[in-house]
Formats: sequence, structure tokens, C-alpha cells
Amino acid sequence: LSTNEHIEPHRICVCVRKRPLNKQENNKKEIDVVSVPGKGTLLVHEPKQKVDLTKYLENQTFHFDYSFNETATNDLVYKFTAKPLVHSIFEGGMATCFAYGQTGSGKTHTMGGDFTGRQQNSAKGIYALAAQDVFTYLNHRRYANLDLSAYVSFFEIYNGKVYDLLNKKAKLRVLEDDRQQVQVVGLEEVYVSSAEEVIKMIQQGSACRTSGQTSANANSSRSHAILQITLRRNDRATTLHGKFSLIDLAGNERGTDVSSNDRSTLVETAEINRSLLALKECIRSLGMNSDHIPFRMSTLTKVLRDSFVGEKSKTCMIAMVSPGMTSCEYTMNTLRYADRVKEL
Ligand code: ADP
Ligand code: MG
Repeated sequence: LSTNEHIEPHRICVCVRKRPLNKQENNKKEIDVVSVPGKGTLLVHEPKQKVDLTKYLENQTFHFDYSFNETATNDLVYKFTAKPLVHSIFEGGMATCFAYGQTGSGKTHTMGGDFTGRQQNSAKGIYALAAQDVFTYLNHRRYANLDLSAYVSFFEIYNGKVYDLLNKKAKLRVLEDDRQQVQVVGLEEVYVSSAEEVIKMIQQGSACRTSGQTSANANSSRSHAILQITLRRNDRATTLHGKFSLIDLAGNERGTDVSSNDRSTLVETAEINRSLLALKECIRSLGMNSDHIPFRMSTLTKVLRDSFVGEKSKTCMIAMVSPGMTSCEYTMNTLRYADRVKEL
């Protein structure tokens, strides 16, 4: 908590993270077309074809607050993205951190980390790292007089419906009252007294997320997962002090397969596109200090409404990209989206 350790975040921070080529990609001799030459910059060497059919690579340059290359650890990414936001929620703010990108680009690796213990150096994700810092702050004398407690909720949004990951995927209703306050009715909010407890809840919730083929959403890449760490005062009304929402978004790959006759897939894709579009618009309104927040456009933005209003709201988006040439089109889509979020 030393002052030089604390980076004061902008209201909106947009970063990009490139993952390494994986084993299968290396075996298939996949070409790495993404490079990160320096702080904040990222290049895509986009394959193009001239009219005479000769092929060439065209460099596309993007600038963000930070860019992380394939050697960056979750710890490093955390330090420059979500960590500064922990401070904000103790100051009474609302904070959000989004992982955005195509399926397989590293969203869950970044947010959830590796909980299986299969890998030797089991890397903690942003969920766990943020939970640890929340308890460091809670136990620090600077915040002792606030008399706060931490609570955790974990849910997913699939096809515009909310499912509670801490309560057997119970389907919940989202209600808005006449003062525009949005509530997820019956959402579990569990009191937690240590980071280990939070990590346990995340493990249980994540297992719940991917279980049950017959229930909605067998494929977690089509749903948004939202972990919320809420700080409340220890008064009779347990007044809200601050809230940190950490979101592993659904894969942003468009239904390129629009020829698909599978109606449910088309509905799914339309819903995901709609929510990601709504998200972009809401973050942009936050950046422009606009009074009009189009949060009603999707369930995702409805449940996050509080995070897009108020002086103290801050957000960070981490755009994830796969390095391979075959993912180039998706990578460009991701970067264009992130660029729009940042640009006011
Ligand atoms: P997503 O959630 O975006 O679909 P995942 O996080 O599941 O993607 O990542 C896909 C695969 O790539 C996983 O096996 C994951 O462990 C691996 N991976 C992702 N990012 C990294 C990284 N930065 N370093 C090493 N492996 C990674
Ligand atoms: Mg995932």
C-alpha cells in the first residue's frame, strides 16, 4: 500500500494481451502475425493479396494504454489493469474489468487462471489476485475505520438470462425499479473473510459453469461470467461502499457461419453481439460523462448499470488476441472494438 506502488487509473483503461502460440499451433506451423514492439503498441501483420494474386503482409498498428506480449505473466497483466481498481472500490467507487476476445484467445486464463493444479506453476488469475488485494486493504489500518466486510457473487449471463453459479445455476430475474436501480432478484451474495474463501467460491462456481450438459449453456464460451466482490459497511443496512465486477466475456467471434440452419446458434450469436455492442456504448458514455447510458440494451449492461454511472466509476478492458495467422480476421475485429472503446 505504499504510495509509489499505487497507479492512479484513468476512468477507462484499454489494454491488449497477446498469448503465445500453443503446441498444436506450433505443430501445424502456424505463423505468428502479432508483435508487440513497445509499451502500448501492437502490430498485426495482416496477410493481403494483390490483384495479380501475389501475397504480402500489411502492417496494422494499434495503440492502447498497455500492450502485453506472450511473455507477460498474469501477475504483470494484473498489476497494470485490475490492481489499480482495487484502490477505487475502497474509495467508494464502482470498478469493472473485462476480458474481451475470441474463444481461445486467453480470457479465462487471464481472469480465472489455472485452478486445476495440473500445471506445475499454477498461475493465479485476476479473480484470485484481486481477491488477495481486497483482503490486504481490508486488513490495513488505513481502511480499518470504514468498518467494511466483503461479499462475493458469481453468475453467468447466457442468452440474456442470469444463472447463479453459487446456487446450482438457479435462473434469476433482473428487475429495474422506478429509480432505475437494477436488481438481480435472489442472487447469492456470500460473506467472505479471506482470499482463500473467495478462491474456493470461484472454483465451485467455475465447476458449476461447465457442468450439466442438459441445462442451458453447455459451452461456457457462449456466456459471460461475472464475479463481483462487494464491500459493505458493517451497519444495520449493510450499506454498499464499493463494488468490483470482473467479467470473462463470451467469445466475440461473429457467427461467420451465418449459413447455419441451427436457429438456437443464431439466436445465441445475435444475443452476444447485442450485449457486446451495448457494452461498448456504455463504456463510451462513461468516458464522455454522458447522462444517457444505454444500459437497457442488454442484460449484461443492465446488471452492470451502477458501474457506468457516478463520478467514481472506473473500468478496464483487456482485449485478448491469438497470435496465429488463421485467427487474423478475429484479431483485427477484437482490436477495432478495443480501439472504439478507447476513442472518445
Ligand atoms: P478463452 O477463455 O478466451 O476461450 P482460454 O483462456 O481458455 O481462452 O485459453 C485457451 C488456451 O490457451 C488454454 O489452454 C490456455 O491455458 C492457453 N493460454 C491462454 N493464454 C495464455 C497465456 N498467456 N500463456 C499461456 N497459455 C495461455
Ligand atoms: Mg473461456
